[in-house]
Amino acid sequence: MEIKNVSVIGAGTMGSGIAQVTAQAGYNVTMEDIGEELLERGLASIDKSLGRGVKKGSISEQDKASIMSRISTAIGLSSAKDADLVIEAVLEELELKLDIFKELDSICREHTILASNTSALPISAMAAATKRQPRVIGIHFMNPAPVMKGVELIRGRHTSHETFQTCKAFIESLGKEPCEAVDYAGFIVSRILDAMMNEAFYCVMDGNKPEQVDKAMRLCCNFPMGPLELCDLVGADITLHGLETVHKEFGDRLHPAPLLVSMVRSGDLGRKTGQGFYDYRKQA
Ligand code: NAD
Repeated sequence: MEIKNVSVIGAGTMGSGIAQVTAQAGYNVTMEDIGEELLERGLASIDKSLGRGVKKGSISEQDKASIMSRISTAIGLSSAKDADLVIEAVLEELELKLDIFKELDSICREHTILASNTSALPISAMAAATKRQPRVIGIHFMNPAPVMKGVELIRGRHTSHETFQTCKAFIESLGKEPCEAVDYAGFIVSRILDAMMNEAFYCVMDGNKPEQVDKAMRLCCNFPMGPLELCDLVGADITLHGLETVHKEFGDRLHPAPLLVSMVRSGDLGRKTGQGFYDYRKQA
């Protein structure tokens, strides 16, 4: 199946990044959200990201203008009616995603593939909310989407071979590498990262200093950033939500560390609140 028009639902961190890489590869993209301001913020972040490319010399001003011209915006979901592929990137809440998949199923044409960018939630549940289970799949871009090479591709229980192959070719056409993952909570990347971060929280609870935990993982394992720095970047609330999703599926193997729960309770979420494992208020 040929994909020409792509709809991205959600203009946040991931939705705007996905819209950018998709338009950069020559597709027509519609980015949808629930308010004008959110769409404007999404467009501004794409503009800024492409502007960095122009400064570095990786794209020209003309390229930037033609990429931006391929992205249109809309409020609500109705413009997804023209899409061959819809990529949902709204908040990580299963009930919200189920409602959106149900609505998209009634709006979109029969051949349209519906994909979710969820980090951990079940693709098969979203597929079951529609009458097109063979054409529902997980396409999990990493953050930041324009930079990260790998994209997880997750089959639901009834995803067809054709849908899988079409999406695999789509990911490759963006210059990215599809990584096939099974539809259990957290797939491959979130499941392993969450488990590793959780062990780092227990290390801190056991008396290790956060700086030493991160330093050890950076210098001894060659990680680009330590697990606690990663938690502060992603947000303690998002990390806890991911861990709870994986814990629900795999039980005590992944019981979220009480330290993380206590941080979320007190609002120490990381960079976004100025305080996490580290104090960012000094840097402001
Ligand atoms: P975000 O909060 O930055 O953006 C979500 C957007 O969805 C918001 O702009 C919100 O207004 C919009 N939205 C909410 N309800 C909507 C609706 N009914 N219709 C249209 N838009 C709606 O979130 P994000 O970080 O971009 O995450 C989006 C998805 O991507 C989540 O499923 C998340 O788990 C996944 N993800 C996030 C990351 C990350 O590091 N942030 C990485 C990979 C995957």
